Amino acid sequence: MRFSSLTDRFEKADRIFDSIIIGGGLSGTLAATVLGRAGYHVCLIDRYEIYPKDFRAEHLDGGIIDSLMRLNLLDELTDGLFRGETVTIARNARVIGMTATVNFGLRYENLVNRARSALPEHVHRVVGRVSKIETTDDLQSVSLSNGDVVTGRLIVLATGQGAAVGRQAGARRVTLRERHSLTFGFQIEPAGVASFKDSFLVYQRENIRDKIDYLAAFTMGGRTRVNLFTYRDYKDPWTKSFLADPDAGLKRNLPGLEAVIGPYQASGPVEARPIDLYVTKDATRPGLVLIGDAFQSSCPATGMGIIRLLTDIEQLCGVHLPRWLETPGMDATKVGAFYRDPIKVACDAKALRDSAYRRAVSTETTPGWRLHRARLAMVEQARALLHRRAAVGYPRVAGQEQRPTLVPG
Ligand SMILES: Cc1cc2nc3c(=O)[nH]c(=O)nc-3n(C[C@H](O)[C@H](O)[C@H](O)COP(=O)(O)OP(=O)(O)OC[C@H]3O[C@@H](n4cnc5c(N)ncnc54)[C@H](O)[C@@H]3O)c2cc1C
Repeated sequence: MRFSSLTDRFEKADRIFDSIIIGGGLSGTLAATVLGRAGYHVCLIDRYEIYPKDFRAEHLDGGIIDSLMRLNLLDELTDGLFRGETVTIARNARVIGMTATVNFGLRYENLVNRARSALPEHVHRVVGRVSKIETTDDLQSVSLSNGDVVTGRLIVLATGQGAAVGRQAGARRVTLRERHSLTFGFQIEPAGVASFKDSFLVYQRENIRDKIDYLAAFTMGGRTRVNLFTYRDYKDPWTKSFLADPDAGLKRNLPGLEAVIGPYQASGPVEARPIDLYVTKDATRPGLVLIGDAFQSSCPATGMGIIRLLTDIEQLCGVHLPRWLETPGMDATKVGAFYRDPIKVACDAKALRDSAYRRAVSTETTPGWRLHRARLAMVEQARALLHRRAAVGYPRVAGQEQRPTLVPG
């Protein structure tokens, strides 16, 4: 189903939606799907009919898969994609271990556009930029830049990193750290052999000076895609040099990678994107809920961005919103229950904790952190020893042996 123009399809005169979702990225689109499937009257508004090319999360694994299964969304989002079953962990030129984990790689815009294709027919979709929201204890109104107005009982704000719309209702964004991390995305291919051995590999930093956290390599569209998570600045000469020649940059900074995956060639174009770490204060407003990146960000290296937005969706759409709609009104007392939800609170707190920890463990040079890393290295050595004894090669997973490329995650 395509987005339609508001004036074409929307009977604005007599329609009050249960929920108006602003932002059709991953969080807004999946929230609209869950609520639409549950029978609610939902309007989904986004600036773009088709989500444009965007470098973001490109890999689904672990808790993301569990949550998508609980929400009954996994099949629509991953149909026809290569399905990995394991992740190999490596560091300093050797494999430390291998763990079972279902995983898929796909570009973010493809993920969102797949999600949009799975929207129930009766979810009203509007293409337009929201310029103004007005919230009350009862009814909320959303104005678009073309002058159209949509009315509903609850606004779900899923506008991602943009803070302007939430600010109108008094939600205050506080930046914890600007340019917290810088993530790179590019391709890598085997040199001289047909395919890599692993379809999902995580290779950890070799030297603290490099300000690298880890590299994830995974199968995406029949090729191997790399996400490199760093704590570099975009203007850093290191960054410029890496953007210009990712193959030389990788071989210089992670020299042991070749011993694990074999000869390889990394190639551009390289995408690089910095992320600010922020939280929202004073979010509890009548008639308005913020979800996903509209509420809080997290460092991509934690892999918590999608987990957080899925947690928001599970708790908001499965627990709170159905209760709120049972009685009249949508005051701040009702809405506040979402922000106090212990599952959401714990997930958001973990994302912030992990963001701070990953940066510190990858960059800090104080004695305390050196000691901490030394302890981690001892544990890793023990794991590597156990892995070699137990596996003598790689655990074989049914159906995996002939997979064409690797990749990873
Ligand atoms: C480089 C990078 C790598 C990442 N890697 C990972 C990873 O490996 N694992 C992970 O879990 N997370 C990762 N993340 C985080 C993850 O991508 C985000 O948490 C997630 O995409 C947030 O989705 P969202 O729906 O909240 O926001 P978005 O996807 O940004 O959606 C916001 C939507 O709102 C719309 N919009 C905004 N303003 C308006 C308006 N005024 N009117 C109408 N529409 C509007 C936009 O058009 C957009 O469609 C990464 C992020 C980055 C930047």
